[in-house]
Amino acid sequence: MDLSKVITPRCRIHDSVVKEAEENLREIRELAIGEGADILGVAGLKDLKGIYTFPPDLLSGFRFGISIGVGLDKHGSFDDSTEDEFAFPLLNKIAERICDHVHRRGYKAKRIAADERVEEHPPLRWRGDISHKAVAKSAGLGWIGRSMLLVTPEMGPRICLATVLTDMPLVPGVPMRNDCGTCSACVSACPIGSLRKRTFEYHPELLEDVLDVDSCDTRVEARPKETVLCYECMLACPVGKRDHKTKKV
Ligand code: SF4
Ligand code: SF4
Repeated sequence: MDLSKVITPRCRIHDSVVKEAEENLREIRELAIGEGADILGVAGLKDLKGIYTFPPDLLSGFRFGISIGVGLDKHGSFDDSTEDEFAFPLLNKIAERICDHVHRRGYKAKRIAADERVEEHPPLRWRGDISHKAVAKSAGLGWIGRSMLLVTPEMGPRICLATVLTDMPLVPGVPMRNDCGTCSACVSACPIGSLRKRTFEYHPELLEDVLDVDSCDTRVEARPKETVLCYECMLACPVGKRDHKTKKV
C-alpha cells in the first residue's frame, strides 16, 4: 500500500513538529553533556502551573524548562565548596551556552542560575526565581525521596541543578513516582530525627509530614563555620552511589 495516500497533511505537520522537537532536544543534550553536564531533561511548564516564581509571571511566554544536573561526588568526596567552586559555575556556564544556542535558533531562552537567590533566609529557607528541584522532577530526572531531595537513578540526591526556560519545541519527560521502596537510610542517618518515614507517590501532601524544617534548619545552621553543611541524608542514600551499581534498598 502507498502510505502517502493515507497519511493526511495534518499527520505530516504533526510528524515534522515531533521530529523538530526531538532534534532540538538531541542537540541541546549533546551540547550540555559536551560542556560537562551529567543529566538533562525537559519539563512541560503547564505541569508546573501554580508553582512559586519570581516574578510571578516568570513562566509567561515559555513552554518548557530545561533541567541540567551536575553530579557532586563524581570526583570522590564533596562538601559545600564543591557546590560553590565547581558545580554552580559549571551549571551556569552550561545554561548560558544553551541560551546562546536557543537564541541562534530564533527562540527565546532565559537562564535561571544555579545559585541566584531572591529570598535569603539561610541556611535552608531561601528561594530562587523557580524551584530547580520542581523543574527536574517534572522533567523526569528523578523522584522526590523520603529525604525530600530529588533522587536521580544515576547519582542519587548528590547533584546540583540549573534551569533554562524556553519556547523552543522540545520533548518533555515524564515525572517519576517515588521509588524509595522499603529504604529509610536517610531517615536513620539524620542525627536529630528531622525526617519521618512516610510513603507517598509523587510528593507528600504536607512537607511538614515528612521533614521538620525547623529542626533541620537549626542543625544546618549550628554547624561550626569551619565544617561543612549537614549532608547526612544526602550521603546515606544508596541510590546511584558509585559503589552501588544497581539500587539495592
Ligand atoms: S540535612 Fe541533616 S538535619 Fe536536615 S534532614 Fe538531612 S540529615 Fe537531617
Ligand atoms: S535514602 Fe532511601 S529512603 Fe532516603 S531518599 Fe534515598 S532511597 Fe529514598
